[in-house]
Amino acid sequence: MSTEPDGSMVSSIHLRAGQGGACRVFLVQTRNRAEVKHVQLLFDEVAQYCSVRPLALGVTTAFVIQSGDDHPMLASLEQILKEDFKFSMVHGGFNPVIHRIVEDLAMETMSHLYPLPLCGGCGCAEPFPVWLTIHRFSERRLKGLFCERCVSSACGDPQALCRLVDPGALKTSPQTSVVRKRSILRFGMTRGREREQAADADGDPSPGNSALNDSKDLIRRAS
Ligand SMILES: [Zn+2]
Repeated sequence: MSTEPDGSMVSSIHLRAGQGGACRVFLVQTRNRAEVKHVQLLFDEVAQYCSVRPLALGVTTAFVIQSGDDHPMLASLEQILKEDFKFSMVHGGFNPVIHRIVEDLAMETMSHLYPLPLCGGCGCAEPFPVWLTIHRFSERRLKGLFCERCVSSACGDPQALCRLVDPGALKTSPQTSVVRKRSILRFGMTRGREREQAADADGDPSPGNSALNDSKDLIRRAS
């Protein structure tokens, strides 16, 4: 019988997730590109403290935020959006219904929609997926994106985690380690060129530094 280590054996499983916590969807109706940029700057600031992902940009602008705790900055953000924009709302939690509402509004208003990754287990759109990477001794790594629910249901069982990525013959052993990391997930809101175009938009009064100053106020008020 061979004593060579089995290269297909799983050595470790790495899970990289957002910081966890509750999601909130912020929906804002904007009237011009200056207002779009204003909203972007506000969420750029919040992204330093929470996981932020854009859902739509344009007349319908929407972001989803995941926060590990009830960050006071989010209440300030909600207040600023109420004061500075014609219409805004906050929905607690992220689910297919609110996602569909954002998609429908964005399509009706010709706004840009950001597609979300789909969970490799249940197929649901997931704004803050868990990156699951399976390391094997001598074969290439296997990766997949999953929602927190699918990962949680398998988390205590390395073999079940492997089945999420590949229902085939991945083999674990008692030595297979599961490493979980949590951090703020960062997602690009606009590409550089789009950002420049937004800044150069003519016809609309530029917010200059005022939006940024508002953001600074936001952080100050929250701290
Ligand atoms: Zn899932």
